[in-house]
Amino acid sequence: MSKLRFNALYTASNRKPVDVVIPDRLSKLFNSNVFSKETMQEYLTKDAYKYLKAAREKGEKIPREIADQVATAMKEWALSRGATHYTHWFQPLTGSTAEKHDAFFDIIGDDRAIEKFNGSMLVQQEPDASSFPNGGIRNTFEARGYSAWDPTSSAFIIDTTLCIPSVFISYTGDTLDYKTPLLRALQAVDEAATDVARYFDRNVNKVHSTLGWEQEYFLVDSAMFNTRPDLQLTGKTLLGHSPAKGQQLGDHYFGSIPLRVLRYMQELEVEAMKIGIPVKTRHNEVAPNQFECAPIFEEANQGVDNNSLLMDLMNRIAEKHNLKVLLHEKPFDGVNGSGKHNNWSLQTDTGENLLSPGKNPKQNLQFLTFFINTIKAVSEYSDIMRSTIASAGNDYRLGGHEAPPAIISIFIGTQLTSVLDELEKVKKGKLSPDEKTDLKLNIVGKIPEILLDNTDRNRTSPFAFTGNKFEFRAVGSSANCAEPMMVINTIVADRLKKFKIEVDALIEKGLKKDEAIFNVLRDYIKTSRHILFEGNGYSKEWEDEAAKRGLSNYKTTPEALKVELEKKNMDLFIRNSVLSKVEIESRNELKLNKYSTLVEIEAKVLADLARNHIIPTAILYQNDLIKNVKGLKSIFPDKEFKSLAKEQMDLIRMISEKISRIKVSVDQLLSEIEKSNQNKSEQKRAEAFGSRVKPYFSIIRADVDELEMLVDDEVWPLTKYREFMFMD
Ligand code: ADP
Ligand code: MG
Repeated sequence: MSKLRFNALYTASNRKPVDVVIPDRLSKLFNSNVFSKETMQEYLTKDAYKYLKAAREKGEKIPREIADQVATAMKEWALSRGATHYTHWFQPLTGSTAEKHDAFFDIIGDDRAIEKFNGSMLVQQEPDASSFPNGGIRNTFEARGYSAWDPTSSAFIIDTTLCIPSVFISYTGDTLDYKTPLLRALQAVDEAATDVARYFDRNVNKVHSTLGWEQEYFLVDSAMFNTRPDLQLTGKTLLGHSPAKGQQLGDHYFGSIPLRVLRYMQELEVEAMKIGIPVKTRHNEVAPNQFECAPIFEEANQGVDNNSLLMDLMNRIAEKHNLKVLLHEKPFDGVNGSGKHNNWSLQTDTGENLLSPGKNPKQNLQFLTFFINTIKAVSEYSDIMRSTIASAGNDYRLGGHEAPPAIISIFIGTQLTSVLDELEKVKKGKLSPDEKTDLKLNIVGKIPEILLDNTDRNRTSPFAFTGNKFEFRAVGSSANCAEPMMVINTIVADRLKKFKIEVDALIEKGLKKDEAIFNVLRDYIKTSRHILFEGNGYSKEWEDEAAKRGLSNYKTTPEALKVELEKKNMDLFIRNSVLSKVEIESRNELKLNKYSTLVEIEAKVLADLARNHIIPTAILYQNDLIKNVKGLKSIFPDKEFKSLAKEQMDLIRMISEKISRIKVSVDQLLSEIEKSNQNKSEQKRAEAFGSRVKPYFSIIRADVDELEMLVDDEVWPLTKYREFMFMD
């Protein structure tokens, strides 16, 4: 066995669970390293706290002197918790998080030093941004970037650094991060949803979007991980024969969590709690070594930050436990990939969930209003919903018969479907008192009852209503939630604005408010039926049916991203002041570029593995066989030799065939990379990588995986699936 593989197997099998100190109450730890509202009140004057609260809750500006006070308070608090540095923490379009640490330390003359941090340092910081991706923006404007404090998300301490959640923008004002457009979308949905919510309750002054994510991931032993260049460089295995036992038995889901993993999860939870991530749920997932972590839902901006933070934290904690976290959407062939369900809803400042059926017909009409507007919004902009989840990694998952299909549809369950059926029958225009009573009692009045026992849970749907929220299931596990959240909130904001205009117009014409609302909702149901689907999303029949309905089925990232530049979709973001034309174009270019880059890296790693690991190993083994055949020939008479050496001869031939096939495919792969890179347009380049380079992955893999079965296990260089897919 190769030394590396042997050592890895030996090391991994001797690992013991790492001891973790678990406090008696997690609630005591919660937010202990966060500049939370509670801490703010302790460190700030009443006046300053009022401003900060208004900034968080109402988006109001913070005056200069107050920023100074907040900075001083933050510094005092941070120093008391052992911090020495501060950083503007932001989420550039690379997908990970960025930070540049500066010490509080400063020299003030006479050889003396102090800890210094003031309002301007809090509000703005200039990282050296020249190497963050920004699509065409920088080329066009030669812009430099700066980060600016986002007071709507809490500052926190990691290790000895005070982290200040920030946005990242260029000097020309173009956004270079995930957060800024999200904040704009949240503002748009706040305004639109507040206006509509006030039809039902005049006390509503603000609507928050909520996000509860569920993060799926794989764990592998770090020693094993280090034996796989494909995992190290691409986050996924590009080769490997499926083991005899995969997930067929379904025995991993909700099974007991291996002790080593449990210790890791416990430490992760303790550290997450300290920085304010309210993690609540942990369990095994469907595939071997696949797990999930989910928090209590939060305001969307905070939720997005916390998911990014958790992804960072997962990697850091895993190191201590000699584990590697795989956030890739499809690390292993033959078993489920990982997603990140984004549970989404809207909540008023009066504490009501607008997607939760209420206790009386009025609240139910409110529920139906937001429910149906969301359905209508998704039906109009399903292409953008698809493009927002498009990535090289997610392409391996979507439509793979284990994940939501690439077709966007909505599942609402049979009972709500029948409510919509009834509502659709409502007469146009004014209603008689009897008709109104019937509607209130028999349709709208029945909703909470029916939802109570609505246990319908269609796991194949990319966007499902689950009782009091929609669950966007097609998001990739490594994605930043900001984009899908930005998209949902923008399309719903846009729809609610139009809804308000349409309802007001009918009220103008003399209809009662309820009648007007029913009228518009009825039309919306009629025009968005095609997006509703209750059946099996993995089936071929659905693909055919969806095509008939005119729903898109973009199977690859380049196809899915193309729609971002369509006028209808650009107008949506521009009209709602979420993204400008330049921003849409540069982000699109960037995503295409990222796709091509990732496919190119995978291709090159695969080529290297095939040429430097697989072919030489196969030749070595073949040489052994040849030696064996020659030996047999030297000791047996010809007739006997033929039958005795048949198996070996066949093997020698098969190995030769495989080697030459792999060699030919790899040469073709490399030449296709070169050709693809000659495309000047990012769209064309991405399309070439998708359609000309990627097909070789499965061709090469199939041959290599067959070789894995032919070559002696003892000499195979790469750790095998069965070896790292199961951990005790
Ligand atoms: P599952 O999808 O695994 O069956 P649940 O349906 O119980 O799990 O809920 C999953 C997630 O939904 C949790 O992370 C929870 O915080 C979130 N969630 C619950 N209510 C809301 C809401 N109003 N807005 C956003 N997320 C929510
Ligand atoms: Mg879920």
